[in-house]
Amino acid sequence: MQTVPLLDHTPETIVILGGGPAGISCALWLKNLGHHPVILESGSETGGTPGQIDRPNRWIAGMPEITSLGLAQKLQEQCTVSDLQVLTEAKVLSVSCAESHNFKVTYSTSDGTAETDCAAVIFATGVRPRSLESVDSKDQEIHSENIELDPLGHLTGRTSHDGERSLVVGGADNAFFTANDLVNSGANVTLACRSLPKAQSMIQSQIKSHVDSGKLRVVQGSPTSFRQTGSSVEVEMSGLTESFTLEVDKVYLRLGFTPRFEGLEEILDNLKLTMDQQGFPQLDSDGRWCSQGIYCCGDLNRHEVSAVVSSLAGGAQVAKTVEYDLRRSK
Ligand SMILES: Cc1cc2nc3c(=O)[nH]c(=O)nc-3n(C[C@H](O)[C@H](O)[C@H](O)COP(=O)(O)OP(=O)(O)OC[C@H]3O[C@@H](n4cnc5c(N)ncnc54)[C@H](O)[C@@H]3O)c2cc1C
Repeated sequence: MQTVPLLDHTPETIVILGGGPAGISCALWLKNLGHHPVILESGSETGGTPGQIDRPNRWIAGMPEITSLGLAQKLQEQCTVSDLQVLTEAKVLSVSCAESHNFKVTYSTSDGTAETDCAAVIFATGVRPRSLESVDSKDQEIHSENIELDPLGHLTGRTSHDGERSLVVGGADNAFFTANDLVNSGANVTLACRSLPKAQSMIQSQIKSHVDSGKLRVVQGSPTSFRQTGSSVEVEMSGLTESFTLEVDKVYLRLGFTPRFEGLEEILDNLKLTMDQQGFPQLDSDGRWCSQGIYCCGDLNRHEVSAVVSSLAGGAQVAKTVEYDLRRSK
């Protein structure tokens, strides 16, 4: 009878940038797979985007009562209970790759600068709203209070938008939800879509009922320039067949999301990591960004649904991929 050779397990250090749902899930799985994950989180606490949303989260099977904020708190608790190593207010200064699965990551925290050797680097830094740069604007000298980028910004601070002339720009869910919220709080809303809306049909249908009752109009076009005129904003709009001007009190840009890589650009360049046409990391189906041992998960993976459940699953998937790659690299 022939015997089968078995592997020895060597625990490896793996650095994860970002302590949102994807980063924490990935760390937990790596820990359970016998490795030593280190989460470097740029913020003062973990939990990621859900930590900024104090609203019910109705999208997680088995957790009917949870809010996004409550979920972020549970993720933080999980870091403690599972004894995950988390460094907050961490800034990654450099990542160098000597050979496959052999990295040195230098970072700073409030304790100073440090470096760690690791076998893999995982990016889980999430996304941020696309900003004005992506609009072909001739004049960006507008007051910040007249432009809103945060997808939930219209809900904070003022709750009434009575009589406000609002322009919402965008054709996906966030634009439609914002337009709906604004109409419901008394604003006169113009919703501008560049092309056929991509928003889910349920919210499109709700918006249609506002159009039918004369509370909102949906126009085809995109802004080409903004001009501050007193307390309002003049927006030049370009449509397929015509150009027109709108004067509004506030513009809500809902232009989608882009990877959150601020401060990491040089590192990504040095590592020669490639982006796809949408500016997102070019990954294989298992989350590998390159064969040397760099991976991505969560919202950074454009092919996943942008949601907590898929970020948790994406973190798990990448942890399994890392474990498989490390096994094969021995
Ligand atoms: C307005 C809004 C509402 C949403 N509502 C829901 C909902 O109801 N239900 C649902 O399931 N999903 C919802 N989502 C989506 C959900 O929040 C995301 O899919 C999920 O948070 C993605 O997890 P992530 O870990 O990839 O990124 P994030 O949650 O964004 O976490 C990324 C983490 O990385 C950190 N980071 C960023 N840059 C660096 C860096 N350079 N170095 C180190 N750390 C860094 C950030 O501080 C953050 O903690 C919503 C998203 C938005 C924007």
